[in-house]
Amino acid sequence: MTFTDFNLKESIQQAVAEAGFTEPSPVQKEGIPLVLEGHDIIAQAQTGTGKTAAFGLPIMSMMKADGSIEGLVIVPTRELAMQVSDELYRFGQKAGLKTATVYGGTAYGKQIDRINQASIVVATPGRLQDLLQSGKIKINPQFVVLDEADEMLDMGFLDEIKNIFKFLPKERQTLMFSATMPKAIRKLAEEILNNPKTVSITKSETTNTKITQQYYVVQDHERDDALVRLIDFKNPNKCIIFCRMKKEVDRLVAHMTAQGFKVSGLHGDMEQKQREVTIRAFKQGGIDIFIATDVAARGLDVNDVTHVFNYHIPFDSESYVHRIGRTGRGGKSGEAITLVSPNELRTIKRIEKDVGTQMSTEIIPTRVEVQDAKASELIAKIADTRVTESAINLVKTLQHDLDIVTIAHLLASMIQEENEVKGKDKIGLDHAEIAKALERSRDDRGSKNRGRGRSPRRHTDRDRNDRGGDRRSKTRQHSGGGRDSRNAGRGSNRG
Ligand code: ADP
Ligand code: MG
Repeated sequence: MTFTDFNLKESIQQAVAEAGFTEPSPVQKEGIPLVLEGHDIIAQAQTGTGKTAAFGLPIMSMMKADGSIEGLVIVPTRELAMQVSDELYRFGQKAGLKTATVYGGTAYGKQIDRINQASIVVATPGRLQDLLQSGKIKINPQFVVLDEADEMLDMGFLDEIKNIFKFLPKERQTLMFSATMPKAIRKLAEEILNNPKTVSITKSETTNTKITQQYYVVQDHERDDALVRLIDFKNPNKCIIFCRMKKEVDRLVAHMTAQGFKVSGLHGDMEQKQREVTIRAFKQGGIDIFIATDVAARGLDVNDVTHVFNYHIPFDSESYVHRIGRTGRGGKSGEAITLVSPNELRTIKRIEKDVGTQMSTEIIPTRVEVQDAKASELIAKIADTRVTESAINLVKTLQHDLDIVTIAHLLASMIQEENEVKGKDKIGLDHAEIAKALERSRDDRGSKNRGRGRSPRRHTDRDRNDRGGDRRSKTRQHSGGGRDSRNAGRGSNRG
């Protein structure tokens, strides 16, 4: 199947070809015909599956480009607003469709001017509600899209969204996209969608199979060393390191900078200008490593990210999928690497089950192994290097005092000094230790279930503690997998 099978408007068709899209992704295959037939849809698909084109192409194909606002796309964050708007502009430009981006934290005047010239408005809920409620803008879009709806509800935008729909025409086509379908999403869908068709992309299709997934087991205090060693070893082109909290991001930025890496942090409370500058530097290669929180990197679409590192395993499976989807963009391959402590093995197993993939367990290479690998790289690089005039002159000068072998040794040492692999030789657990830790984590799971009151058989101190009056807060503190702790974690991610 190709994009020509959809009967899209000629100019849109051309833009798709120019973007280099050949085969539609599953959500596009299913979604585009339904939208073109005029149905409301509710679609479940993970990030990186091509949702923007799935809604963008058909609605733009149906637009008249008469200068009025025909489409409204509501997205959770400013970053996504800009990204979606860029992608839609790319497809709609030839059809004469302009896009405007609407988000908080910038002046009203310019935004309103742009809205008045646009065919498609891409907006975050807060500012949009603000503009509609104050009467600063009046819009009458025939097509309304809610992108990453679950994320918007997680961020607490339900009231804003409901409010916004009061200002939208009753006669409209509404498309809703969400990576997950919790009850709140289905309820919202019932309220705003009219006889929707369901598009659901199964798990095996949602995780990009070109992303290899591995985990390394380390003790908590070994995380920094493990990270540096793995980056030394894997030599990523661009990579993103995910942390759970802003303060962890800040600490790691300082640490990695001190190790000589070109890094930058990305988190929620950066100034918008600063974020844009940082993301541009990352795209253009001035920065090789992004250290980010989940929220800050949600939806980030940078094409040549080769590796994603989870400094800590995320709290829930959805975050995991969102994170690893930052690599392997546009059909490329990528590696997702997760550091876990023995206590977190349970979480790994749960995520594997939820996501429907198996990650491989790997051992962190020793210093000597990395050094050897680097030496081979260096030899290849030396063989590839072109001799320059100034190098010849430099050697001539050195030869006044030194013989040629000594000169070679000195130069090689100099290069190797720059490439020196630091840290202790062995980091993390080896296969035998991991097997033991896995064994223990299985035992642990048993006692945890009993702690929650299911089939109590054996009583340990920990069980007794869990049974105390303050069980909820105990769960919050100790369990990595409990619902409470997950929610608490999500909250603190918003840092
Ligand atoms: P999602 O919204 O599901 O996270 P996006 O719409 O952002 O995904 O698409 C992810 C990336 O894949 C973008 O860079 C987009 O240009 C690219 N892409 C989308 N559809 C296709 C396709 N059919 N063929 C090739 N690349 C595609
Ligand atoms: Mg998207």
